[in-house]
Amino acid sequence: MMIFRSKYAPTVICLIFCVSFCLFRGASPVEAWGRLEDIRYKLKPSDGNVWSHLTGRGRMVTGREAPGNVVITFDDGPDHRTTPVILDILDKYDYRAVFFINCHQIHHASAAAEENMAVLRDMYRRGHYIGNHTFGHLDPDTVTLEDAWRDVVHCEQLIESVTGREPTLYRPPFGKLPPEIRKRLDYSGYTTVMWNMDTQDWRYSDPAALKRRVKTIVDENGGGILLFHDTNSVVVEALDGIMQMLTQRDNENPDTQEHHIELAGIESFIQSRR
Ligand SMILES: [Zn+2]
Repeated sequence: MMIFRSKYAPTVICLIFCVSFCLFRGASPVEAWGRLEDIRYKLKPSDGNVWSHLTGRGRMVTGREAPGNVVITFDDGPDHRTTPVILDILDKYDYRAVFFINCHQIHHASAAAEENMAVLRDMYRRGHYIGNHTFGHLDPDTVTLEDAWRDVVHCEQLIESVTGREPTLYRPPFGKLPPEIRKRLDYSGYTTVMWNMDTQDWRYSDPAALKRRVKTIVDENGGGILLFHDTNSVVVEALDGIMQMLTQRDNENPDTQEHHIELAGIESFIQSRR
C-alpha cells in the first residue's frame, strides 16, 4: 500500500473517510434517532419498549406537568377476564397505555395466575408500559417500611423475569408514598407516576355514566393522567366509547376548540412537561 506512504496519504485517507461517512450515514446515531422520532410522531402515544430509558430518572409525575395532554393508566391487573378486551380496544386506537400491575396477580399457585401471566406477556408484546404497583398492594401505613419496600422489590423482580427489563415506572398503592420509600425509589431510578384524574370507576356500573365522568374530569383538569382499573368490568364496557371521545377531540382542530386535548403516551407526557 504505497499510497499510504506517499505525500497524498492525508488526502486519500480523508477522501475514504468522507465517502464512508456518506455511504453509512443512514445508520448513524443521529439518523437513527430521527427515524425513531418519526415513528413516535406517527404513533403519538409512544411505544414504551422503545423509549423506556427516558422514564427511569428518579422523578415524580403528578399529571399536571403537561396541560392539554391525556395519558391513560390502568392499575391492579392483569386480570385474564377483563384485561385482554382492554388490550384489544387500545390496539384499535393504536394507543399504548401504562399498566401498573400487582404482581400477586401473576404469582400464586392457581390456573388464574398462569392465565394472568400470559396476559402480561401479551401486554408487553403489544408495546404497553409495565409499571410496578407492588406485589401485594400493601398499605404502607399498616406495615413496616422494610415490608413495604420488599413488596416493591419482589414485584420488580417478577416483572423483570417476564419482560427482561427492570420496570422504571412506579405507582404507590393508595397513593401513599412515605418519604423513605420515595428516597429509595428515586435512588433506584424509578419515576413515580401519580394521577390527577381519578375516574373512580369502582363507583360505577353504568358504562355511559363512567364515560360522562371521564369527560367531566378531563374538562375540569384540562388533561393529565387518567386512573382506571383494568380489573373492573365496567371499564371494559365503557372504554371503547371513552377512546372514541378522546380520539375525536384529539383529531379536532385545536383552533376551533376551547379545551383541546392530545392523547399522549407517558413518554410524550414526560417530554412535554412545562
Ligand atoms: Zn391499586
